[in-house]
Amino acid sequence: MSGTINKIQERDELKRQLESLDNQIVNEQKNCSHDFPPAKYDPEIERVPSGYKMEGHGSDVYPVATGYMDKDKPRWSRTCKKCGKTEYTYTQKPTEYKPDFGK
Ligand SMILES: [Zn+2]
Repeated sequence: MSGTINKIQERDELKRQLESLDNQIVNEQKNCSHDFPPAKYDPEIERVPSGYKMEGHGSDVYPVATGYMDKDKPRWSRTCKKCGKTEYTYTQKPTEYKPDFGK
């Protein structure tokens, strides 16, 4: 099927372009002096079991999830204004001291 062969050639060409773009982006981001805006809260959604039931027999009993629910995992992100690089972190540290008038 020449139509299929054309699609394979087109796909391979797109793959090459994609690889080339990936390399260019990595290089440009590596050389960027980065200008990050303030980080924003950007939680990761985790699928966690919402319940368990025990399955198996005798000494070979193990818990099996009966369902799943989405749960926010605290995470922050920032994206460079110049190169679009996005960084993620799961940790926080104090970044600012403010005058304390005791109130
Ligand atoms: Zn940058």
